[in-house]
Amino acid sequence: MFNISQRKIEKHLTTSVFGRNIRHMKVCTSTNEEAKLHCDSPDGTLFIADTQTCGRGRLGRSWESEKGGGIYMSLLLKPDIPAEVAPQLTLVAGIAVCKALGNAKIKWPNDIIIGNKKVCGILTEMSHKNVICGIGINANTKKFPAELDFATSLYLERGRKVRKEKIVADVLNIFEILCNEFYENGFDPLLDEYKTLCENIGKDVRVIFENKEVTGVATDVSANGNLLVKTTDGEISVASGEVSVRGLYKYI
Ligand code: ADP
Repeated sequence: MFNISQRKIEKHLTTSVFGRNIRHMKVCTSTNEEAKLHCDSPDGTLFIADTQTCGRGRLGRSWESEKGGGIYMSLLLKPDIPAEVAPQLTLVAGIAVCKALGNAKIKWPNDIIIGNKKVCGILTEMSHKNVICGIGINANTKKFPAELDFATSLYLERGRKVRKEKIVADVLNIFEILCNEFYENGFDPLLDEYKTLCENIGKDVRVIFENKEVTGVATDVSANGNLLVKTTDGEISVASGEVSVRGLYKYI
């Protein structure tokens, strides 16, 4: 009964490409891996699983994928855009998830939070000329392992179960519209919306690099999606691929 129904996703879709081909699995290692394996599938193919045995986050981290609790999905995209702007698609995905969930915000670059807790992670990867956008949403999860005390779910926030298929379709419907805008005009027209949703701006942050940590105030997001941080040594421009950002004393 926790399993995703492909038919119910399709019922709510208003897209022309995103999710028009769906590959639903009861279990897989990670939906991003499945998308990579089947990257000859059509543009907009949705890979979605009831559970993942090896869910992944950025920088080699793992994603807790409780069976039936979460939404585990990856979109295979074949955009005709320069490779250097493709990483910005991850920011576009963040806006789409935020809008689909309603009262959510973004922790730069693309964690989706509700009330300072993480409800969704996004992992965008390039594979050949494809972009694979993995989205994990804690939908009906009731409890998280102790180490994820900063995680929340839609169920915990709303006090009732959510219809996962409707959420999947809402994300795809909005994501497709935003992507078309992005493919046509770049990230510029979406930047203001991203900044409005970005919870870090104006706050103290710790920027954690592979082997050092810098603290400062996040002042802005640049046109290419970098986080600008004012430190005692001047302003730095942080690209998303290489760092994690945390609040000074807590998660945000
Ligand atoms: P960040 O850059 O914020 O560390 P990542 O994009 O790397 O985030 O996501 C992986 C991290 O998310 C993990 O290291 C873990 O701390 C956290 N995490 C793993 N599973 C979940 C989950 N189901 N809900 C919320 N957070 C999770």
